[in-house]
Amino acid sequence: MSFISGNKPEKCKLIVSSHNYEYTPSCEELANLVARIQAVGADIVKVATAAKDIVDVSRMFQVMVHCQVPMIGLVMSERGLMSRVLAPKFGGYLTFGILNSAKTSAPGQPTVEELLDVYNIRCIGPDTKVLGLIANPVKQSKSPILHNKCLQYVGYNAVYLPLLGDNLASFLETYSSPDFSGFSCSLPFKVDAVQCCNEHDPVAKSIGAINTIVRRPDGKLVGYNTDYIGAISAIEDGIGGPGSKDAVISPLAGRLIVVVGAGGAGKAIAYGAKEKGARVVVANRTYEKAVSLANAIGGQALRLADLETFRPEDGMILANATSLGMQPNIDGTPIPKKALSFYDVVFDAVYAPKVTRLLREAEECGVKVVSGVEMFIRQAMGQFEHFTGGIEGVMFF
Ligand code: NAP
Repeated sequence: MSFISGNKPEKCKLIVSSHNYEYTPSCEELANLVARIQAVGADIVKVATAAKDIVDVSRMFQVMVHCQVPMIGLVMSERGLMSRVLAPKFGGYLTFGILNSAKTSAPGQPTVEELLDVYNIRCIGPDTKVLGLIANPVKQSKSPILHNKCLQYVGYNAVYLPLLGDNLASFLETYSSPDFSGFSCSLPFKVDAVQCCNEHDPVAKSIGAINTIVRRPDGKLVGYNTDYIGAISAIEDGIGGPGSKDAVISPLAGRLIVVVGAGGAGKAIAYGAKEKGARVVVANRTYEKAVSLANAIGGQALRLADLETFRPEDGMILANATSLGMQPNIDGTPIPKKALSFYDVVFDAVYAPKVTRLLREAEECGVKVVSGVEMFIRQAMGQFEHFTGGIEGVMFF
């Protein structure tokens, strides 16, 4: 303490820090803490707290933007990641990046490489818009890499973050400033998002699931579903031939498509295929959900076990919209291999791994396959257009 009070070398700046590994206190308590640290002679105040919920980070931002002394404000844990990446936006004196991801000194630290290459942190400033994927879990997602690369490529002043959330409504209510301008949402929030939006794209409303939320300048939240466009255009291209996606009549028109799964992706594909004039059959583990989706779109419902023998005609299309086969359970598949030869085209919404067991077995049966990566890129392209208001000349490849 005597060092602080008088004997500090002239050119030396002193960082005095406080760590709370349990929680993030209220704004008032944080402000008091900053004042106390400043009072002991700190040139730079450092406060690190822990996030129990992603909304906790907003209190650190509020204190940082009003702080009269240089301040480092970091919220630890994966839920606090945005405090580290958005430090330059909210006036943080510095942020920490680790050199080796296996050697963190506090929970939730990104690597220097991620800060520079993924989040382009050198370009983040007070006017930078915040976009992100709110999901739980979220760290497996490739969306931050894809969206940030595209934002950098077109020079749009925004950063796209993985946002580990627990409650979509409280997240959107807390981060309600115009700078938090758009969000992708994934499991488990796609259905909750319908309630959270003030306005909806009509297709998204019929599907009952939203994967894209845009905050309009008037503050209203508008919900879209780009999964539907992403999956259907990928399947249409996979079918190919006369009547491809650019034609007036979709190559899906009149075809029989079996959609396996009745969750968010299943609904999007079933509604989309119906809209394109396909005849839709829905199979799902929970049969009641298959019935409910089939009734909503005027299709037929099946149990998963029925897929083994279901062959009303040749040349059907299969779309897996369950999580079967997804990492880490890569041995999962929704349909026995021997039944795959009933189909002309097999699409798998699962995109990690790129070649799922379903696609591998379909290829072995000589069936045309379409990877979930195609859907992933196309749904992201739709989101990017919504987030940026459509920038001419943006190409993903
Ligand atoms: P969701 O709403 O939670 O629905 C999950 C679906 O999978 C339900 O139909 C569920 O059946 C079924 N399911 C889960 N575990 C199962 C199991 N062990 N056996 C049989 N069925 C099972 O999820 P979602 O958003 O629709 O996503 C589904 C898949 O699509 C995920 O793998 C996701 O990664 C993928 N997806 C990919 C993209 C892309 O861009 N490529 C976009 C969106 C989603 P019950 O109804 O019986 O629970």
